[in-house]
Amino acid sequence: MFNLNPEKIRSDFPIFDRKINGKEIIYFDNAATTQKPKQVLESIMDFYKQHNANIHRGVHRLSREASDLYEQAHRTIGKFINAKQKEIIFTRNTTESLNLIYYSLSKNLKKGDEIITTLMEHHSNIVPLLELQKLNGIKVKFIDVNEDGTLDLNQYKKEITKRTKIITVAHSSNVLGTINPVEKIEKLAHENNSLFIVDAAQSAPHIRINFRKLNADFIAFSAHKMLGPTGIGALAGKKDLLEKMPAFLLGGDMIQEVHKNSWKPNKLPWKFEAGTPNIAGGVGFAEAVKYLEKIGIEKLRKHEKELAEYALARMKAVNNIEIYGPMNVEERTGIISFNMKNVSAHELAGVLDSMNNIMLRSGMLCAQPLVEGLDKKGVARISFYIYNTEEEIDIFISSLNKITC
Ligand code: PMP
Repeated sequence: MFNLNPEKIRSDFPIFDRKINGKEIIYFDNAATTQKPKQVLESIMDFYKQHNANIHRGVHRLSREASDLYEQAHRTIGKFINAKQKEIIFTRNTTESLNLIYYSLSKNLKKGDEIITTLMEHHSNIVPLLELQKLNGIKVKFIDVNEDGTLDLNQYKKEITKRTKIITVAHSSNVLGTINPVEKIEKLAHENNSLFIVDAAQSAPHIRINFRKLNADFIAFSAHKMLGPTGIGALAGKKDLLEKMPAFLLGGDMIQEVHKNSWKPNKLPWKFEAGTPNIAGGVGFAEAVKYLEKIGIEKLRKHEKELAEYALARMKAVNNIEIYGPMNVEERTGIISFNMKNVSAHELAGVLDSMNNIMLRSGMLCAQPLVEGLDKKGVARISFYIYNTEEEIDIFISSLNKITC
């Protein structure tokens, strides 16, 4: 198998033609959002130029074309994760997907029921749960994170009870890069008849996900973290569960019939897609997935592992640096969070940007319970994707060495 060729890939990304202060951009903020290839940009432009119309409500040609493209996009995303078209709901992003699930499931939860999440979650897999705790009396329990950045799996046995209705976990941490053992957690959840929900925002772009094999009840992810546009994401859910669940937003397109005193929901997946959706976004999302499939998720993962291994080895040799998360690249993605003694994460990010156009993220990373658990006020985070190179890591390391000495 040939290796991935980041230089060739970069030529598909117009943003990398841009120079700032005469230098190239080193984009290491891919966990926040990725750059977009021209194929995705053109598919969106082409939709608006050639096919733009509202979906599902017209018999005219443009409406039929737009509906076909949008429905085809659901099939493409479904195929990508081995789910049926009916099981793919387009949302705005992972946050909305998770809110949709928790809102809808909460209608069947009772006071004293329990949800188990982890201390490694993004705020979007904590805050909706805390709201259920406040408003519905649902008990939220957290699985701790070990020193090495892995989950304390032994704790599940202690926390799971007959009242545990939902177990949820991030497939991969947006701070530590840890890839969590979702297969093991799925077994624990289903042995207890709990629903199993996976936040795949940081895994779907980087690791092959097989929805059927994983046997999660729901998974959530965002297009913009995998070369697609912002404002579109997916929720995949098992058909029988989605059929039973009440709708989230109510109005047009999510109904089959409406009368003065009653209404009937539409069939899946439209039951959960109220109002005019992000049609062009759906088209762009599908194009992004096609682009990734053409490269090959396995090749992409191999490239990111090599970059992570190289970066970790070189970062460890920098003075005054503290690196978080598992050190074995088999257990992590291409996300590396770190701190440097006597420099705040924000200062570090600002200096790297002005020195060498190195774009990275700093702060709580929408995971305040985790970052505070590390006893930090913030962390700096680099995160790689298909277009990043070892040469960029070399510039990053030499910049860090200048800052620390
Ligand atoms: N979960 C994880 C693990 C994330 O990294 C993110 C985004 N940083 C989200 C959820 C939320 O994604 P979005 O902002 O696209 O809704």
